[in-house]
Amino acid sequence: MNKKIFALATLLVSSLFLTACKDEKITNITYVNQGSDTQPEYIESTLYDLDEENASPNQDNRQMFLILHYTAVSKDETLALFKDPNFPASSHYFVPELPTNGKFTVYRLVPDDKRAWHAGASSWQTNSSLNASSIGIEIENLGFPADDEQLPLMQRRWYPFSSKQQIKVLADIILKITKKYEIRPDRILGHSDISPGRKFDPGPLFPWKRLYEDYNIGAWYDNDTVNYYRTYHPWKNDIASLQSKLALYGYNIPVTGQYDQVTQNVVSAFQMHFYPEKYDGFADIETVARLDALLEKYRNVARPAISP
Ligand SMILES: [Zn+2]
Repeated sequence: MNKKIFALATLLVSSLFLTACKDEKITNITYVNQGSDTQPEYIESTLYDLDEENASPNQDNRQMFLILHYTAVSKDETLALFKDPNFPASSHYFVPELPTNGKFTVYRLVPDDKRAWHAGASSWQTNSSLNASSIGIEIENLGFPADDEQLPLMQRRWYPFSSKQQIKVLADIILKITKKYEIRPDRILGHSDISPGRKFDPGPLFPWKRLYEDYNIGAWYDNDTVNYYRTYHPWKNDIASLQSKLALYGYNIPVTGQYDQVTQNVVSAFQMHFYPEKYDGFADIETVARLDALLEKYRNVARPAISP
């Protein structure tokens, strides 16, 4: 193919992928390698004094969530798109797969105190449109081949996260960000968690379990608790109870009692995160036992007694 046409086609395909992460466009934001996230200075005025002695305790950090993505395109394409002023998506950080010339570079594309457009239509618990309340990290990974797009999730050929260095660097950044903004472990989420059915990144091969075990990053269930629920309170195909539990954990799902497409999408998202052996969107005893264990650990749900 003609090189120019090929480049254009590549850019078009890339746009289709990365647009995945887009949010509504807002104008005139300069975001490439800009400044720091320090407290903005107030403009001094001769018209008034600014009293900062009466601080309210009723505040928290704007950065409440950390959202992880895969890029679906290469490093060079990712950087080109995110630096393109006409491209409607961005991210605070970009972690490539490999070092260049022996040195690992992480790209900060948007300062932490600015909004990046990575989440789009999204929600978690009572929060929605999470661009306003999150930090986004794009991780270089191709997702799945474009040819697989129409296949069910479990039939797609997902690209592995095989660079140990990438995960190590990612863990270091996550730890620094979550410490700085006191982001709770259960608020470190995948794009698929906050936009189920619409987004699938960072995908079923993303090493959530390894991040938890090796770096104490994110939420994870305790095996003993899962065993308890699996043994003494196995799920009995009660769809409304499944939906209520997913909603209580944070997913955007109405309680209809019907195993509809929304339910399948949300169960898939949950499984890609916490049950990567099975992410077909159909719940089973193991799925709900893991969900019960997470609710007990992170949502203060009391453990029911052993049924007689
Ligand atoms: Zn994404």
